[in-house]
Amino acid sequence: MAGLFFCGPGKLREMGERELNLDIQGGCMCGSVRYSATASPANSMVCHCQSCRRAAAAPVVAWVTFARSEFRFTRGTPLEFESSPRVRRRFCGTCGSHLAYEHLDTPDFVDVTTCSLDAPWAFPPTHHSWLSHDIGWVKFGDGLPTFQRSRFGDPS
Ligand SMILES: [Zn+2]
Ligand SMILES: [Zn+2]
Repeated sequence: MAGLFFCGPGKLREMGERELNLDIQGGCMCGSVRYSATASPANSMVCHCQSCRRAAAAPVVAWVTFARSEFRFTRGTPLEFESSPRVRRRFCGTCGSHLAYEHLDTPDFVDVTTCSLDAPWAFPPTHHSWLSHDIGWVKFGDGLPTFQRSRFGDPS
């Protein structure tokens, strides 16, 4: 069942032009780990999958996706955890904030927790993924498209 918990992007370049040379900042709760991105996210969504739920101990987790070439950690080094085969989740070793999701099958992109951004309100989601794992007691009512699994289909 490799890829069951995949919540990353597939065909991001088809989603249109992104603004370049931005200064998007974020980091963990305690400030030990900071990051920046220089282009707007290629994707923004809310994931309902079990893996995200367990990683964040939260009913859902919102994610934005940056091109790896446009994203870097600028302070501290997050710890990492292999939450599924070929998946690395990164988090602050001091305060525990969940920061990033990386899938080895999509090395050109990194998913970042929307709510670790300094301005999460600037990057609203466009859809919900992995409703097949939904716990059922959060009702969003935002009218966004929902997908039983990943919007982009399941990776290998
Ligand atoms: Zn921290
Ligand atoms: Zn997920």
